[in-house]
Amino acid sequence: MRWTPGGTSGDIEDRRSEGGGGGFGGGGFGGIHLGLGGILVLVVLSVVFRVNLLSVFTGAPDATSTRPLTESDRAAGANSDREVQFVSFVLDDVQSTWERVLPESGAQYRHAKLVLFRNYTQSGCGTAQTATGPFYCPADEKVYIDLAFFDELRGNFGAPGEFAQAYVIAHEIGHHVQKLLGIEGQVQRLRQSNPASANPLSVRLELQADCFAGVWAKSTEQRKIIDQSDIAAGLRAAAAVGDDRLQKMATGHVSPENFTHGSSQQRMQWFRSGLDSGQIDACDTFATR
Ligand SMILES: [Zn+2]
Repeated sequence: MRWTPGGTSGDIEDRRSEGGGGGFGGGGFGGIHLGLGGILVLVVLSVVFRVNLLSVFTGAPDATSTRPLTESDRAAGANSDREVQFVSFVLDDVQSTWERVLPESGAQYRHAKLVLFRNYTQSGCGTAQTATGPFYCPADEKVYIDLAFFDELRGNFGAPGEFAQAYVIAHEIGHHVQKLLGIEGQVQRLRQSNPASANPLSVRLELQADCFAGVWAKSTEQRKIIDQSDIAAGLRAAAAVGDDRLQKMATGHVSPENFTHGSSQQRMQWFRSGLDSGQIDACDTFATR
């Protein structure tokens, strides 16, 4: 990716120095959207540490406590300035793209905030934790990211490269666009009136966020910020966090009824759809069978 390190975005809320403070009081996330890779991270960490981190979401009492800051965390902090500038660049670029694109569909864009945190922090949707992975909270219109997730993405999920990180941010802002368009609200109501439809609706919501990430990627391609190798990295990132791959890593087999993000294949296909057209209209994941 071609970008110039600059300042910190005015839409970034940096809570990293608060990491480890406060407490997380009992409650689970309820119906919160786990975010790109969130479940994947939970499952992998659960396997590594032999602790059921997924229990955090069911409110079971054996959730792990957070790890105190170490020296290497502090050293990583010094190196993360460039990472924060990169996140800032992507966030501002994604949001200014939607400021331009959304009015074409008769809607106005309103900026989302992006919260950087360490270990855990409070969100309008419950406690955000590192193990949750990045997610968007519609209640406070903020994206929550612990930068440690990007290390996971590079190291464990075979998705290196800056564009893979940019893809994650663009996907989460895609969920914000869904809220602004009223799609997220409609899906919430449908889920409540028909609980059996909750999972397929979640998949369509996720795939649409991938498609919206593609719409942004199209605009960066036109401005020569990204090239074909970045797109390949983005497609690998989409595949890396697809639930089929996630399930294979965790259990050795795939059971489609548990999918919430869609298969790697579906994710790549919808990212492509947004990327090829650059149009919101190409992202109607709810219209297909
Ligand atoms: Zn998502």
